[in-house]
Amino acid sequence: MKNDKAIVVFSGGQDSTTCLFWALKNFKEVEAVTFDYNQRHRLEIEVAKEIATELGVKHHILDMSLLNQLAPNALTRDDIEVSAGEDGELPNTFVPGRNLLFLSFAGVLASQVGAKHIITGVCETDFSGYPDCRDIFVKSLNVTLNLSMDETFVIHTPLMWINKAETWKLADELGALDFVRERTLTCYNGIIADGCGECPACKLRKAGLDQYLDSLKEGVE
Ligand code: ZN
Repeated sequence: MKNDKAIVVFSGGQDSTTCLFWALKNFKEVEAVTFDYNQRHRLEIEVAKEIATELGVKHHILDMSLLNQLAPNALTRDDIEVSAGEDGELPNTFVPGRNLLFLSFAGVLASQVGAKHIITGVCETDFSGYPDCRDIFVKSLNVTLNLSMDETFVIHTPLMWINKAETWKLADELGALDFVRERTLTCYNGIIADGCGECPACKLRKAGLDQYLDSLKEGVE
């Protein structure tokens, strides 16, 4: 693995930035790809650019505005409020097929640049019900991509079975806790680092961080 080239699907958020550090540790050459789908917060793209530059990673930004055209949604439209899913419904941040499209285009890019490994921060543990974050979907798509391009890609999902606290732990083990905490953007209201503190993404991120920091204190006692 160490001598291979990898592509990281990268949004500039906590999860994909942790994956970027993970990739830099595990692969010789790493490139990042960010999808521009007219995100509600244009800052996401800027944050991703800055992080990639700072880490010396070649950064591809691909136009995916068709996603917004197909599926107007709380992540792309200012006039739609973010709300959590209730009674088993998907939250309205769900964009049908988003990971299918992102991973497929990452596969095409990987083929173009000669990368065998594709890394994505999808996670089934803090599962919001997004069907294309499930492990079985990623495995299925891996087979499909390989068949479609006659490649031997390996899709890696370092966060698939860990929770938010463990994702912070992983960042810490990679020597990137402060970097991830201070530089990434996860907040639905577009506020870098600790965010607005009120939106579902901020609450999840903070709960995980508090849990991890508490576990460190317990370890010392
Ligand atoms: Zn927030």
